[in-house]
Amino acid sequence: MKIVTDPQELQRQCLVWRNAERTVGLVPTMGFLHAGHTALMDRMRPECDRMVVTLFVNPTQFGENEDLSNYPHDFEGDCAKAEAHGADLLFAPAPDAMYAPDHATWVEVPELGRHLCGASRPIHFRGVCTVVTKLFNLTRAHKAVFGQKDWQQLAILRRMARDLNMPVEIIGHPIVRESDGLALSSRNAYLTETERAAAPAIRRGLLNLRETVRAGQRNAGAARAALKEEYASTLPMGEVDYIEIVDPADIVPMEDISGPVLAAVAIRLGKARLIDNILIEV
Ligand code: AMP
Repeated sequence: MKIVTDPQELQRQCLVWRNAERTVGLVPTMGFLHAGHTALMDRMRPECDRMVVTLFVNPTQFGENEDLSNYPHDFEGDCAKAEAHGADLLFAPAPDAMYAPDHATWVEVPELGRHLCGASRPIHFRGVCTVVTKLFNLTRAHKAVFGQKDWQQLAILRRMARDLNMPVEIIGHPIVRESDGLALSSRNAYLTETERAAAPAIRRGLLNLRETVRAGQRNAGAARAALKEEYASTLPMGEVDYIEIVDPADIVPMEDISGPVLAAVAIRLGKARLIDNILIEV
């Protein structure tokens, strides 16, 4: 596995592969890799000839009071995992290699970013879209894979690629969970023992919400209120950032549950802000 930090070298290498008619697959991450990330690699590996994994804690997607400076990292461990899961190239640039001091160009999909994480993290998806566009341009990847844990991100990137005719196939991959149901996240490392023990309640609440919908609940407001009440007792130390029921493609809140919906939550638990979601077919 080749380790590259220079964007131009990444671009040169991927061009060589493309010219030799190799398909390039891209797996973007912020590192501190876990089984959710390696599942994306395992998904991509048979889909391409050359697999590029990126490790980049992208500063432009973090707000001022967020965890950019404390984001966990383990470069050696990440290299070993990426190599073990078949990466041909690991791209780990420094922030100033990706952003010129006078960087001035942004890619945005505002319509899909008004709710869920976009509401509490106003510049987040602009940063994500911009860095993913840069990674697409650097690699000219034929395919790229993203996790459904970040459902809104996946919906936004799909729309961006379609609207801007980006020649890349976007693959979505299901959420990988711990055996107790907690969605894997690099940010789970922030949890204390007590918080970690309580955290599976996030998923249980979403499963209960799905049950109430399956049992006939069609009023999104009532379903959300019930989940809020449930979290107040199962996660008393948690602070709800949002509990929303939205259209899965447009990410706008729905009042009546009449077709497939996405129930999505963000909960602050100590130093961590954890997200999870569930797709509910009606
Ligand atoms: P991150 O490093 O958190 O930016 O995540 C990099 C990619 O891995 C994104 O496409 C995430 O959606 C995906 N990902 C993170 N955690 C999980 C998980 N538990 N299951 C599936 N995909 C995940």
